[in-house]
Amino acid sequence: MLLDLKNVFLNEGVHRLADYKLDLSSVAVDGVNPMPEPVAVTAEAVNTAGTVRLIIKAEFLYSRPCDRCFSLTNTNMSLEFEHNLVVSLSGDSNDDYIEVPDYTIDLDELVATDITLELPLKYLCREDCKGLCQSCGQNLNNGECKCSKTATDPRLEVLRQLLS
Ligand SMILES: [Zn+2]
Ligand SMILES: [Zn+2]
Repeated sequence: MLLDLKNVFLNEGVHRLADYKLDLSSVAVDGVNPMPEPVAVTAEAVNTAGTVRLIIKAEFLYSRPCDRCFSLTNTNMSLEFEHNLVVSLSGDSNDDYIEVPDYTIDLDELVATDITLELPLKYLCREDCKGLCQSCGQNLNNGECKCSKTATDPRLEVLRQLLS
């Protein structure tokens, strides 16, 4: 969606609100498409003293396999982003400002980039996910497998020797 902000830029105090669904189902992270459902985007542009502040809210279902046990896990994400828009950058380019020479911003592209940068690098189904057994592959969140009874954790072995 292209957001025309000319009216906002030229009139201090003017707001512009956009509310729409953005399809990001083709965005891939680690070989999966974690946003199968459309993303609910709310964007508000406000002119404050010549700078247009753009506040973006994105809500979506994040669906990705857990990094440890590989079970598909859904999380409701709610992210917020803020940008300052200017018609032209004065001096050196500044990461805090986005230049919009024609008063128009490609909201889809901006939101997609914002979300991609904000997505967690590590994704676990829960903080204390036990993962899979290295020998038999059982999901240890569902209970211990037979191997764990006989195998000794090398770290525990060191501790046991220290204590004896
Ligand atoms: Zn897990
Ligand atoms: Zn096992």
